[in-house]
Amino acid sequence: MKRLHEKMEQEGRVLSEHVLKVDSFLNHQIDPQLMKEIGEAFADRFGDAGITKIVTLESSGIAPSVMTGLVLGVPVIFARKRQSLTMTDDLLTADVYSFTKETTNRIAVSGSFLTEDDTVLIIDDFLANGQAALGLLDIVTQAGSSVAGIGIVIEKSFQNGRALLEKEGIRVESLARIDSLQNGQIQFKAEVPQ
Ligand code: 5GP
Repeated sequence: MKRLHEKMEQEGRVLSEHVLKVDSFLNHQIDPQLMKEIGEAFADRFGDAGITKIVTLESSGIAPSVMTGLVLGVPVIFARKRQSLTMTDDLLTADVYSFTKETTNRIAVSGSFLTEDDTVLIIDDFLANGQAALGLLDIVTQAGSSVAGIGIVIEKSFQNGRALLEKEGIRVESLARIDSLQNGQIQFKAEVPQ
């Protein structure tokens, strides 16, 4: 996705060799036009996979997921990081270690929104060590739903998330792949697409 790569190069801030800040278009302020294109790109890749639901994690996974859900015509469920008093249905939960916050959160989805008949696309903003994606995968598996794959906006390919997910037999599709964040520079894995 050319526009995503451009945005990352123009507005991304390399905070360390491991962390990229993209608060101006994905993690705080949101660029709706870019989210629309991201939605179309995920729909393109997973359009023939029979997706019936999208599952993501609040809050930064919601924007790209909603746009993908709009194109695919399916609902979007976001796992909550904090328990809500209104979530009284049979909860599906998983414990996830947060890469950026360095704490473990229990994430939860109401069991009423996922069934054995669902085929789920999991979406998240970043893939680092795969803990968020594995937690979502755990929840979807507990529901008995099938997983069509995982869509990631920005993958840091120098961390081991992809390897862990592929070991589970999961298809991973990332719209941008970073090879390194050394010397304050984003080094993309593949040639930037047109
Ligand atoms: P993982 O669970 O794969 O280790 O990390 C993925 C989660 O951590 C994502 O949901 C994302 O919120 C956050 N994350 C990981 N790496 C980065 C990063 O470099 N920048 C930002 N903004 N978030 C990240």
